[in-house]
Amino acid sequence: PQETPAAQAVPAIDVLNVSKLFGEGQSAVRALDDVSVAIGENAFFTLLGPSGCGKTTLLRLIAGFDHPSAGQILLRGEDISELPPNQRSVNTVFQSYALFPHMTVRQNIGFGPKMLGWDKARIDRTVTDMLALVRMEALADRRTDQISGGQQQRVALARALAPRPKVLLLDEPLSALDYKLRKEMQTELKRLQHETGITFIFVTHDQEEALTMSDRIAVMSAGRILQIGSPREIYLHPRERFVADFIGDTNFLAAEVIEAGGGMARLRLAGGGEAEATVPEGVAATGRVTASVRPEQARLVAPGQGALTGRVAGRVYFGTDTLVTLRLADDSAFTLRVQNSLTDGEPPGEGAEAGIALAPGALQVLRD
Ligand code: ATP
Repeated sequence: PQETPAAQAVPAIDVLNVSKLFGEGQSAVRALDDVSVAIGENAFFTLLGPSGCGKTTLLRLIAGFDHPSAGQILLRGEDISELPPNQRSVNTVFQSYALFPHMTVRQNIGFGPKMLGWDKARIDRTVTDMLALVRMEALADRRTDQISGGQQQRVALARALAPRPKVLLLDEPLSALDYKLRKEMQTELKRLQHETGITFIFVTHDQEEALTMSDRIAVMSAGRILQIGSPREIYLHPRERFVADFIGDTNFLAAEVIEAGGGMARLRLAGGGEAEATVPEGVAATGRVTASVRPEQARLVAPGQGALTGRVAGRVYFGTDTLVTLRLADDSAFTLRVQNSLTDGEPPGEGAEAGIALAPGALQVLRD
């Protein structure tokens, strides 16, 4: 792929071959295993992965609460791996907010700039700006133990942004909020990143949150980064099974490669006919492979048409769409999403035979 000018610029954060071990000898835990990632300026970047994959560890190394066992972390090209947290222009918003309860909203927001020794006029101006940014002007003189959880979240963001860090780290900051407030704060966070131009590095285990909020996502598993890309790239072109499985719903198909070249392969599907598939960079398309396709990238057609044929094993109605599960010739299950409309009738019922057509480019060969 062609390098864009932005990709050639010095990244805000450059993580270079970082490993982190906790403990020693046989019982040592490798929380991070040779992780490298460049995070650009003015980006909303997300670390996504299941519990224990190393997201928080990576964030703590960038913040300076801990140091790498191997490798380096650069901030705008400067090695900060061994600097203490207060000497890096990086701030963190924790899940627990960690506000000072006996201080007012205003005092909490002014705390960072005050510690940096800014003069009073500059602190006042910054606090006023931050109060407006997070829309908390009306509650500026309330103590932070006398405001709601959502309001505390806004204050925590304003406090972290007030000293104008180059990078803001957010460790599952929305997980303590109820569903509706979480949705609101997702929009709010996007706006704050956009308006401040500060690079946000956001940690979540929630794939939907990652897809809707991020410019780029790094998917992590067991201390490694498996794939980095835009939400669309990650969703439509997962490179391996873990990524395809962790993000959204997907169908896995056993297949054999008939021929391959130029990023494409012709597959014989174990469950039926033949189909063209995309082969991501770095994936060897030979012999037996696993391919994946999203449920909304497949269409029901007449039996004998399309790449696959199966028998309907079940239907689940979801209002806007219906999930139809078919059993294929090799006894594997295949689920597709049928949009419901008034004009199309209902999808075929249980036991009916149906063909499955796959959207061009939707089938993806995975690295095992
Ligand atoms: P979660 O979503 O549950 O917070 P995570 O992806 O943030 O998980 P980490 O907290 O980074 O995961 O932990 C990665 C691995 O390192 C885990 O196996 C964890 O048990 C281990 N680990 C983290 N901190 C320490 C520590 N201080 N001492 C020993 N092991 C640790």
